Amino acid sequence: MREKTIAVKVGNAIIGGGAPVLVQSMTTTSPKDVEGSVKQIVELAKAGCELVRITVPTQADAEKLQEIMEKVRAVGVQIPISADIHYQPRAAFEALKWVEKVRINPGNFAKEEFAPFVREAKRMGKAIRIGVNHGSLSAKILAEYGNTPLGMVESGLEFLNICEAEDFDQIIFSLKASHPKSMVEANRLMVERLKAGGHKLYPFHLGVTEAGEGEDGRIKSAVGIGALLIDGIGDTIRVSLTEDPVNEVPVAFALLQAAGLRRTKAEFISCPGCGRTLFDLQSVTAEVKQRFSHLKHLSIAVMGCIVNGPGEMAGADFGYVGAAAGKVTLYYGMEPVRKNIPQSEALDALENLIKERGRWSA
Ligand code: SF4
Repeated sequence: MREKTIAVKVGNAIIGGGAPVLVQSMTTTSPKDVEGSVKQIVELAKAGCELVRITVPTQADAEKLQEIMEKVRAVGVQIPISADIHYQPRAAFEALKWVEKVRINPGNFAKEEFAPFVREAKRMGKAIRIGVNHGSLSAKILAEYGNTPLGMVESGLEFLNICEAEDFDQIIFSLKASHPKSMVEANRLMVERLKAGGHKLYPFHLGVTEAGEGEDGRIKSAVGIGALLIDGIGDTIRVSLTEDPVNEVPVAFALLQAAGLRRTKAEFISCPGCGRTLFDLQSVTAEVKQRFSHLKHLSIAVMGCIVNGPGEMAGADFGYVGAAAGKVTLYYGMEPVRKNIPQSEALDALENLIKERGRWSA
């Protein structure tokens, strides 16, 4: 069960409040490169990204946000935009004028500037992310709690108290670390503390920072983000990869699908193959995926043999199961409905079967 967080409005999107877990990413451009930033935002939106964050290092960068926003909206892209601020309260105030959400880092945002900033966000109807990073806690927090998940939580709560004193609740939390374990612990602890302290349950943004690239980056993100999603924690996610940010989007959707939270393609189940396998499992699985991926309401199993395959199809809607050398049996649920058909005809037969049962869509 997902935690019942409150809804936070970010432009035309809702984060929390039971809304689908939102996929976000971040540009790698400088805001001073207006054209490059606009191009990347549009590319991310086209790839399915649902919120884009832009790093805003200085006041001069923040001033460029107006032009970036105008250009993005001028090409019909309505994706919400967030600005990422470290150290620069002035840039944060400037960013509030243009983007729908501003992320500040309690580890480096002057605390005395935060109440006026919250008042301004409230007046303008914008959202704030209190984005705590394991690597950048304030000296005071470090002295008191060390560089620990508890320190991260205390850092976030300190800034939350300021928001609550201003009666402002359009807040999203993030507690990120480059170690999945620390990040998981910090988020779990924050949920506990919010509940125990009688606070509202604000939405959570999940991410593993500096996760890396390639398989390593994907696995680290899957472990950290995935563990929390399975707990029911998380309303928006960012998979950080040291790659083109567009690559983050399909990974995020795959992760959400694996956690049973969003469905963007058919669910495929296939066995690893063994000595009993009766066909080239890898190539058949690849063909099945290619042909039926768009049927996102279905789960389809490809199993190497009839001995264990049918029992292990995990409740798939349709099954493609090796029956004998060169022969395939197709299943509808647990029922074998086309027996011993030649493998060369099996894919067409599977498509026909899906259509006959009224489960096809174009
Ligand atoms: S389903 Fe059959 S072929 Fe596949 S791993 Fe199990 S026993 Fe082997």
